[in-house]
Amino acid sequence: MDPLNTVLHKEHLTREDLVLLLGLRTPSDTARLRARAVDVMRAQVGDSVFYRGIIELSNICACDCNYCGIRAGNAKVERFTLTEQEVMDGARWCAQAGYGSLVLQAGERGDAGFRDFISHLVRRIRAESVLADLPQGLGITLSLGEQPLETYRQWHEAGAHRYLLRIETTDPGLFATIHPPAQTLAARKQALADLAEAGFLVGTGVMIGIPGQTLQMLADDILFFRDHPIDMVGMGPWLPHLDTPMGDWVQPLPEADQLQLCLNMIATVRLACPDVNIAATTALQAMVPDGRERGLSYGANVTMPNLTPVHARGNYKLYEGKPCMDEAREECRGCLMGRVESVGRTVALNQWGDPPAYARRVGEGKGHW
Ligand code: SAH
Repeated sequence: MDPLNTVLHKEHLTREDLVLLLGLRTPSDTARLRARAVDVMRAQVGDSVFYRGIIELSNICACDCNYCGIRAGNAKVERFTLTEQEVMDGARWCAQAGYGSLVLQAGERGDAGFRDFISHLVRRIRAESVLADLPQGLGITLSLGEQPLETYRQWHEAGAHRYLLRIETTDPGLFATIHPPAQTLAARKQALADLAEAGFLVGTGVMIGIPGQTLQMLADDILFFRDHPIDMVGMGPWLPHLDTPMGDWVQPLPEADQLQLCLNMIATVRLACPDVNIAATTALQAMVPDGRERGLSYGANVTMPNLTPVHARGNYKLYEGKPCMDEAREECRGCLMGRVESVGRTVALNQWGDPPAYARRVGEGKGHW
């Protein structure tokens, strides 16, 4: 029997299987991977695409990730925090547009003022986003970095129910290379465990195409997603930002190969973790204009339209080439709808779009780390 076919239909993929799938290169092989991932997606999470409107509410950050444009050490960035009114305007717009679900993302801050500001915003958004078409109000996802368990509990209690915190890479050596010594893989794992403990649906993910990263490491990343209570996965290419310590690092793969590797990762995660939500990320669109559509066509089912006010977008540049920097949210809505429809999918409006993975793992008693 054809060996690729066997792997594509295996119930339990081994590390070797994952490496094989990630390394597929010929158009006929990648087309087969893609077709299988879409079949699994349809069977497990359905065909719909869910939107999460994202508001990048502050670029103030205490961390110094070597890859990130808003790292504390980048003195060239003008720091901003949106006002309460700006965030509420964005949230109302999100609810009225039918997006169903909102992400609040920012740099990492540990001060009590910020913690309480977030709790306050979450409460207000939950209370004020109830509409006839959205009786449950907006679903709220936070993406605010590593925080103490108590803070996670406070934000969950306020009404946020999902949290995104990428592990970036599960390889200890690579993690240490791209972060300063104060930021550790152990602390990142603890934060993910704490998020599950606090009751969040947990999203994580990695950057793809980091110098020094191998297919084996990426396979281990997927095993990590599978073996922990992870409900959502967001992944995209590592892209250099010039004002960071990695700004002059040479990308190891030609661009087309890095893009294909990202798409193979999406499809392979879909096979290994069939009922999670997978995002077609903005960073994919930074590589090629139709990057998000390609992500969707390899088994992703979520995408995140940007709702940040245009005046702030230029200062929330994590990597070079970030798309849609001057596109107002109205324009963005029309453009994205067209993109989703262009790959034969439809957007599920006015829904939270929780992944089946969460209900399953809680039902199986695997709610915790
Ligand atoms: N401070 C929050 C959210 C902002 S960073 C947090 O740490 O979770 C969100 C994600 O952007 C990071 O997890 C990282 O994976 C990605 N990112 C940052 N810099 C990047 C770069 N140069 N290329 C690609 N992705 C990057």
